[in-house]
Amino acid sequence: MAAQLIKGTEIREEILEEITAEVQGIKEKHGVVPGLVTILVGENPASLSYVSLKIKTAERVGFKEVQDNQPADIPAEDLLALIDKYNNDNTIDGILVQLPLPDHVDEKKVLNAIDPDKDVDGFHPVNVGRLMIGGKEVKFPPCTPAGIQEMIVRAGVPTEGAEVVVVGRSNIVGKPIANMMLQKGPGANSTVTVVHTRTRDMAAHCKRADILIVAAGVPDLVKPEWIKPGACVIDVGVNRVGEKISAKTGKKVAILKGDVDFEAAKEIAGYITPVPGGVGPMTITMLMRNTLQSCKFKLGIA
Ligand code: NAP
Repeated sequence: MAAQLIKGTEIREEILEEITAEVQGIKEKHGVVPGLVTILVGENPASLSYVSLKIKTAERVGFKEVQDNQPADIPAEDLLALIDKYNNDNTIDGILVQLPLPDHVDEKKVLNAIDPDKDVDGFHPVNVGRLMIGGKEVKFPPCTPAGIQEMIVRAGVPTEGAEVVVVGRSNIVGKPIANMMLQKGPGANSTVTVVHTRTRDMAAHCKRADILIVAAGVPDLVKPEWIKPGACVIDVGVNRVGEKISAKTGKKVAILKGDVDFEAAKEIAGYITPVPGGVGPMTITMLMRNTLQSCKFKLGIA
């Protein structure tokens, strides 16, 4: 194998240890810990499992964690009132509303009700605007793109002047990571191209990439011959392509595949992220980092 593996599972451990140490330091010096509330509406099994992982991670790094589960039939105005309550709670630095919400609730209205200074997911229009402006304006970069940038930086991949090609233009991955990589500053300063389903010659763009970030949701979309030798390939895609019995638990688990033909690509790329174990573990990690940042902004020490 030619490529160096960029393992999200290892980088996650490094960052969570850094956060834990900072939380301890803040507690000793200021007598407070960052507070995160997770609001789960209903009992969607996938949402339950995402939220419990967030809670577990928040507790691990020493945050105050408030788990506020609400029934699926909660009236929309009660949910808005709940958000208002946490907006005004000085012990809460981050508010996370787990999506999707039930049909009777206007998801956009709920997300927009979160105080932008507690919007640790970074999806509020104010934070999208701050990200666009860049530099010190940025408070909470969205978690998956922030994780991608962190992996690139920690792997030591040069970004200055690099040709970055992003496959996909979603609001949660493609657009924000493209925007982040073109900002003026460390870990960025790249020349960015974004490709999508209407792009004329996707292969030609990908072949130019020093850093290829793929977030399309199509298994094996990126062919090995599209990869420039030595390039850094970040595979964001998570595609369920079947089921298998886990050797560890004996239970049925999904077989996951990325958007890149990993086996062939790893012989050509200089760096590559695996699926699973690549970008995936970084998202919750960056949620923790945003919550810590929020607390530091509150204390005036960020
Ligand atoms: P999305 O909202 O469905 O957007 C996919 C984007 O890819 C769209 O812009 C689409 O183009 C483009 N695309 C799709 N098929 C294409 C093709 N054949 N050629 C060129 N472009 C194509 O997806 P998303 O939410 O960004 O997620 C993308 C993938 O990342 C999914 O597999 C998702 O599960 C994964 N993901 C992982 C994490 C994580 O690991 N933490 C987080 C978020 C997402 P158009 O705009 O033209 O339709």
